[in-house]
Amino acid sequence: MSTQKTATIIGSGLVGSLWAVYLAKAGYKVSTYDRRSDLRNVALSAGKSINLATSFRGWKALDKLGIGDAIREIAIPMYSRTIHALDGTISALPYGKENQAIYSVSRGEINAKLLEIAGKNENVDLHFDVDCTFADTKTGKFSLKNNKTGEETHHQTDLLFATDGAFSAVRYSGFQKLDRFSYSQNYIEDGYREILLPANEDGSHKLEKNSLHIWPRGRFMLIALPNFDGSFTCTLFMPFDNHEYCFNKLTDRTKVENFFKEVFPDFYDMMPNVADRWEEHPLSALALIRCYPWTNGKMALMGDAAHATVPFYGQGMNCGFEDCTVMYDLMQEHNENWPVIFKEYEKSRKPNCDAMQDLSLQNYLVMRDKVTDPTFKMIHKIEHRLSNLFPDSYIPLYSMVSFSNIEYKHALQKGNEQQDVIKGIIEEHNLNEETPFEKLDELIYQYFKHELA
Ligand SMILES: Cc1cc2nc3c(=O)[nH]c(=O)nc-3n(C[C@H](O)[C@H](O)[C@H](O)COP(=O)(O)OP(=O)(O)OC[C@H]3O[C@@H](n4cnc5c(N)ncnc54)[C@H](O)[C@@H]3O)c2cc1C
Repeated sequence: MSTQKTATIIGSGLVGSLWAVYLAKAGYKVSTYDRRSDLRNVALSAGKSINLATSFRGWKALDKLGIGDAIREIAIPMYSRTIHALDGTISALPYGKENQAIYSVSRGEINAKLLEIAGKNENVDLHFDVDCTFADTKTGKFSLKNNKTGEETHHQTDLLFATDGAFSAVRYSGFQKLDRFSYSQNYIEDGYREILLPANEDGSHKLEKNSLHIWPRGRFMLIALPNFDGSFTCTLFMPFDNHEYCFNKLTDRTKVENFFKEVFPDFYDMMPNVADRWEEHPLSALALIRCYPWTNGKMALMGDAAHATVPFYGQGMNCGFEDCTVMYDLMQEHNENWPVIFKEYEKSRKPNCDAMQDLSLQNYLVMRDKVTDPTFKMIHKIEHRLSNLFPDSYIPLYSMVSFSNIEYKHALQKGNEQQDVIKGIIEEHNLNEETPFEKLDELIYQYFKHELA
């Protein structure tokens, strides 16, 4: 009889497929089950799936397995945010120091690549077109329904990881009925719709390729992330209703066309047929899901199943990947004593993922509104200067979140404190775009020298 350790994963999306590779590395025979068909067999073209920004935490989790370079091949670095004002003015705000970038990658492509890597591992068995319909945390029993044949099968496992996304069936069936399980699901007022901005006729990009483009308009915004084929996957985030500009008012072709002409005229010039392409992607809602505990008996929630967030800090996947590194490190530390690992995992991750969700909400205001605000721009300028002068001791909030693995909870607290101090200096000394660099440096040394040197 085989004595190999076994584990089950429900959901082989981004986190599930990565976690399968981690468990296989630790010597487990892993079976994954996903309700979707096998993405590896689907021809993926740009614009068929949303684009994600991959940053430090994501790369760390991939590099730890030696698979980061395989993903880098399908990722485009974005070194700055390019801001498109209503009057057509363009400005760029670097994300970090020179060469620091976040990377645009298609969700479908990265998922297919991770499945390909997992599938090549002899310790991983991937199953598709099966829907998990039941899970019992205490006994490890779970049920699957084959989506093609309708057949239902019943199974039992010693270890089950639920990576079945924001609307997790394992969470619903196995966790939500447990005594003292806390759960909240909050939709924000805004939804999103994808739009594919095609390449120029010669295949080149219509906008700067190595940048994330933002058209901030106060209560709503359009963003664009580059693809390799010269196109950009764009996303319009906007309230569903009750605002001057909202999705529910864009009810016909003419209204869509007029909307773009009025609020994104430079985008309209690049894509005058935007109204014809409007229906190509559905209007989708955005929810934040918090719950606790994340583990019980033989089962654990990871990724969006534990902490789905709104996408404005580009951290959902990155954070889910970090769940994998944290869980894996705990496996080593506690010699695969799963009850202990589960407790430590949820205890350490929950406050950090709460902070990640708070950061995601906070950054929506930054992206759609504050990036054009003079005070925000000054804060950014001073933070940039501070991190150049004191690279080892001053790390701006964005960099803590996207270019480090400083715990999210510390990043949130420290980052906001730092920005408050700088805001105070700007107000006290009436600093603005015209303030000479020498004056800024003088103030920086005056306020920060002792703390940071
Ligand atoms: C518009 C948008 C933009 C985003 N941008 C970013 C970004 O820039 N950076 C970033 O880091 N994150 C981003 N995210 C978040 C990111 O997409 C998610 O955090 C990430 O996909 C979560 O991975 P997951 O594996 O936990 O869940 P998912 O990717 O949702 O995978 C869940 C898997 O489970 C399967 N499944 C579901 N139910 C069942 C069932 N009952 N039985 C079997 N299988 C099941 C699904 O088919 C799927 O394959 C964005 C999200 C959105 C919506």
